[in-house]
Amino acid sequence: MIYSEKFLNRFWNKIDIRNKSECWIWKASKYDFGYGQIKADAPFRHNLISHVVSLEIKLNRKLLPGMCCLHVCDNPSCCNPDHLYEGSVQQNSDDKMNRGRHKNGPTEGEDNGNAVLSNQDIPVIVNLILTGHSNKEIAAMYNVTHSTISLIRNKKKWIALLDSIGFEAKPCFIRS
Ligand SMILES: [Zn+2]
Repeated sequence: MIYSEKFLNRFWNKIDIRNKSECWIWKASKYDFGYGQIKADAPFRHNLISHVVSLEIKLNRKLLPGMCCLHVCDNPSCCNPDHLYEGSVQQNSDDKMNRGRHKNGPTEGEDNGNAVLSNQDIPVIVNLILTGHSNKEIAAMYNVTHSTISLIRNKKKWIALLDSIGFEAKPCFIRS
C-alpha cells in the first residue's frame, strides 16, 4: 500500500462518495483552481493533490515520471477513481484545448521576456513538483531550462499565481 491506513481514512472522509458514474466531490480545502488538497502524513506534511492520490490508490503506485492525473469529467474537484486516468502533459493540454477551456492572452508571468510557459501550465507543473518529479524531468516535458522550473519550485517567479494555489516553495526533493 502506498498510503498508510490512517491517511486513507482521513482521505476518504473528505470525499462525497456517490455511485460509480457520478462525480465524487472533494469536501475539504481546495486550491484556487478547484483541486482538492490534503496534507501528507507526518513528518512531511506537504500538500498533496486529492485526485492524484485517488488515482494512485487505484493504480497502487505513484504516477509514472512525466505523467499527470487527468479527469474524464473536467471537474477539478472530482476524486472518483473511475473518472481519472494517467496521461501525459501533452494529452492534458490537448484535452483542455479540445474542451475549449484554454484561455488566450498574456497574464502575470506570461508576458515577461521569452517565457514559454503559460499560466495554465503552472498548476500542472506544481502538480509534477508535488508528486516528486525533478526539475530535469519537468524541464524536458516542457522544453524549458532546469532553471525555469527551479524558479517555480523556489517560488521566485509566478509568485501571485503560486500564492493563489497555496503553493509553498519546495526546495527539497521529497517523494511523498
Ligand atoms: Zn467526475
